[in-house]
Amino acid sequence: MGALRALSVLLLLVNMATLHVTATTFSVQNLAPNTGGGKRYTAEMGDDWTIQMLQEVKTFDVNALSLSPEKPVDHITFILEDTDIAAYNSNNEIHVGANFLGNITGDLRFEIKGLMFHEVCHSFQNNKGDYSNDAHFRGVIEGIATYMELIADYGVGPKVKGGNWYDGYHTTAHFFAWIDQTQISAFVNRLNQRMGLLDWNDNFFTSITGKDVDTLWSLYQADSF
Ligand SMILES: [Zn+2]
Repeated sequence: MGALRALSVLLLLVNMATLHVTATTFSVQNLAPNTGGGKRYTAEMGDDWTIQMLQEVKTFDVNALSLSPEKPVDHITFILEDTDIAAYNSNNEIHVGANFLGNITGDLRFEIKGLMFHEVCHSFQNNKGDYSNDAHFRGVIEGIATYMELIADYGVGPKVKGGNWYDGYHTTAHFFAWIDQTQISAFVNRLNQRMGLLDWNDNFFTSITGKDVDTLWSLYQADSF
């Protein structure tokens, strides 16, 4: 190989390394194999399917959040454990309760994949704010996560009249979908982008849509039920 060609190959490799986004790897731990939920996991889901779905859901969520660069996440672990908690994501560990999983009625794979859209989103969404003490911020974090499940069409609960815009989960997810449809496209992308730059501020709604959040919520409530 000539020196020039070697140099150009080297430059190509450097370039690829620069462009390369850290690939996220996935693993599963079934810590409750002898419980009802653990047995259903083995019989109806299995490691291969679970890891494949986590990868698929990750691609979907990252695309849906995608105006900002992908947050680098090295590894996500799906952990089935013997607790009564349903599911949560802590430091890229998705903990799922064996009792919760064991008691799911209907299509277990459908329900668990729906849950993945929410929990995987927590690893990749921007989260500059005080989750414990700021109810507005917390509602937005949980609303965006369930918004993923909603736009993927994975069985989110119905719109419920009333409540607060920051109640999170399906209440906030449906509200954000309405903003997308009636106010400005890619609202959640734009919101997530701002949340990567600055601590949570209700004025993000105004800067993105031109209307403050209380006005948007009133319009949504009047428009949508
Ligand atoms: Zn959540």
